[in-house]
Amino acid sequence: MPSKRVLSPSFNALTKKKKLVGAPGEPNVTKITGSTRVKGDEMTRKESAYRAIDDSVPEIDNNDHSARVKVEFEYELPPNVFPKADPEDINAGPPAWTTIYNEIVEMRSKFHAPVDGQGCESMPNTITPGLKLSDPKRYRFQLLISLMLSSQTKDEVNYDAMVNLNTGLGNKHAQGFCLEAMSQLSPPEIDSYICKVGFHNRKAQYIAKTCQILKSEFDGDIPKTIEEIVKLPGVGPKMGYLLLQAGWGINSGIGVDVHLHRLALLWGWVSKKATTPEKCRLELESWIPKKYWSDINPLIVGFGQVVCVPRASNCDICALGRKGLCSAANKNLLRGPVTEERKAKLMKQRADLTTLINQYL
Ligand code: SF4
Repeated sequence: MPSKRVLSPSFNALTKKKKLVGAPGEPNVTKITGSTRVKGDEMTRKESAYRAIDDSVPEIDNNDHSARVKVEFEYELPPNVFPKADPEDINAGPPAWTTIYNEIVEMRSKFHAPVDGQGCESMPNTITPGLKLSDPKRYRFQLLISLMLSSQTKDEVNYDAMVNLNTGLGNKHAQGFCLEAMSQLSPPEIDSYICKVGFHNRKAQYIAKTCQILKSEFDGDIPKTIEEIVKLPGVGPKMGYLLLQAGWGINSGIGVDVHLHRLALLWGWVSKKATTPEKCRLELESWIPKKYWSDINPLIVGFGQVVCVPRASNCDICALGRKGLCSAANKNLLRGPVTEERKAKLMKQRADLTTLINQYL
């Protein structure tokens, strides 16, 4: 059995990095990428990761000695630890699939892709450290919203929109970014926070409608079955299966996005008939053992975001290319020469690829 994947970033990893600043009633912590409501004594107890970075004065509520402060997180993501595929499962699928899978696990341990801190599953915890454990219902709601925002949108842009929502709703509602706060917003108000994501107008309307449905039909929580989830406006199967896995721990399907779809076709893990993510999902689920269903999305997505990127794959730093495991490898890149210009280009990818560059170039 694979060991449990280490999710990132962990609350402990965050809290160990920084000491708290601010005495009870005098929170003097500030930040840049978001805001949260804190109490000085509470922060001190928890050794929060917030730190003072400038002289701005937080808005203090004298009723409860709390303050709305800007915060900046300083943390290091823990290493990506995806369990390797069991070699005994090799006969379950196409030739050498476990070898390819395990090479990707190795490569993924050497860099952090956007999906690792800013993907839908990790994003609520990145914005509010420890949220999944401290408030699972609010985590599930934020996870649903991040998934609804994610289509046709890069993780980094989606993350900024979620931070905007967290800040804006935090200023309006005692519970911050939650269903109650969101359901009080009109679609144009929602749109004002998410205007950088793709199809933001339509997504704002879907979110407003979804909030009403969650309140009236699901007791303010998210549904627990894929059939109910995909009935929510703007929510498809990919989002639904990821939501069930991360939100409820229910592993009933593979979340197939554009990267997993593209790479499954590239490696022959699905047939050419799998022309849509949904057809791809059904083919993958027909042979991939269920124990890999929840890891395969973040594992492959991160690889597709920075190594095997669309239209410009970086085969010269890819173990599959170097070891002859990928028939689509760009032979010119593998032959070199390795110029400084090429290295500089690799350093501009969406992740720090130094370890792979040093290994192969
Ligand atoms: S060798 Fe190239 S095409 Fe093949 S998986 Fe690696 S980066 Fe992608």
